[in-house]
Amino acid sequence: MSNAFDIKEKNLFETTTALQDELSDMRRQLHKNPEIGLELPQTVAYVKNKLADLGIEAEEVGGGLVVTIGSGEKCFLIRGDMDALPIQEESGVDFSSTNENMHACGHDFHTTMLFGAAKLLKANEDKLQGQVKLMFQPGEEILAGAKAMVEAGVLENPTVDAGMMIHVFPGFPIKSGTVLVPSAGPFASTSDWFEIKIQGRGGHAATPEVTVNPLTIMSHIHLALHNLEAREISMYDSAVISTTIMNGGVVDNAIPDTAYMKGSIRTFDPAVREYIFKRIPEIAEGVAQTFGGSVEAKIIIGCPTVEVDHEVTESLRTILEAEFPGEIANPLEVGLNKLGGSEDFSYVTQEVPSSMLILAAGHSDEGYLHSVHHPKVLFDEAVLSKGAAVYAVSAMEWLAQNSK
Ligand SMILES: [Zn+2]
Ligand SMILES: [Zn+2]
Repeated sequence: MSNAFDIKEKNLFETTTALQDELSDMRRQLHKNPEIGLELPQTVAYVKNKLADLGIEAEEVGGGLVVTIGSGEKCFLIRGDMDALPIQEESGVDFSSTNENMHACGHDFHTTMLFGAAKLLKANEDKLQGQVKLMFQPGEEILAGAKAMVEAGVLENPTVDAGMMIHVFPGFPIKSGTVLVPSAGPFASTSDWFEIKIQGRGGHAATPEVTVNPLTIMSHIHLALHNLEAREISMYDSAVISTTIMNGGVVDNAIPDTAYMKGSIRTFDPAVREYIFKRIPEIAEGVAQTFGGSVEAKIIIGCPTVEVDHEVTESLRTILEAEFPGEIANPLEVGLNKLGGSEDFSYVTQEVPSSMLILAAGHSDEGYLHSVHHPKVLFDEAVLSKGAAVYAVSAMEWLAQNSK
């Protein structure tokens, strides 16, 4: 097959200039119309139509879209998420969000890059030595989309043998376009929550002796949770417990009856995670009892760690180093350790051997001052075609190496 997007040509980027313009248009269209959560009706319809224009029929699975390209025994999955955040955009770009949400995590890039990969792979379908499954996912920010798609069967029919995702990263001192391929092991942390409802005994602010102030209990629980993290977790392990919501009281001369607190728990080790799950309710109950109140403490499960598989990640490193010499690095080489932020692709990595790549999308010294989730974050669109090519080349070459 001869076409403008021959993935095997040496000058891939020269031949994808047209693709770059198209991807930039698509990204801006998505950026203007961000949707959040598990249901992304406009986004899904838009992507589905764009794929249909390529002659690709996408199937709706678990709120997302699934496309399979190629034929053969082995199947490699590439994933891009599509959801935004409930953040009011302040970036000032002329294609800013037209609603109250914002693509502040770059998922508009991921959707667009995965679409670009669909185009490259479709144009090279006759060269594929297996099947590539493209997973367009909703609900990553609420850590529910990957799970929903896995439960709806995204990893079956055909059965996925290995997988990969990309996340763009602006606002770091890393050359834009650099692809970070991590070492094996847990790469992105777990993310879970604690929620504590405190029952005190309200009354007049002037008579504390006949009340139980739930705000006092809440403050002590907050401090005790930081001691849990600092004093009960070994220096060889790591964990973060952050209180992020503390509510209680309505007026300055009354002690309230109840108070409410919630927060985030991040870990890399399942044993540490379980230990914290056990200790938070124990601490909350003990503190409440000390001060004469009671609590209802619960742990809300978010997502497990992203587990990077040794064989898949090293195979992708070799493939990408050959394709993009000098542009591939280990996160450790650019000062990035494991990610404390979580990523719900973890649900895929727990099922099939996978890797998680980072694509630097704007150097912090070149005007990209903010990182993801900031209302003023900017992303370097020049990396869009690179991202598409990384997805496509990774899938194509992994299949070539594993189909024998
Ligand atoms: Zn995010
Ligand atoms: Zn994200």
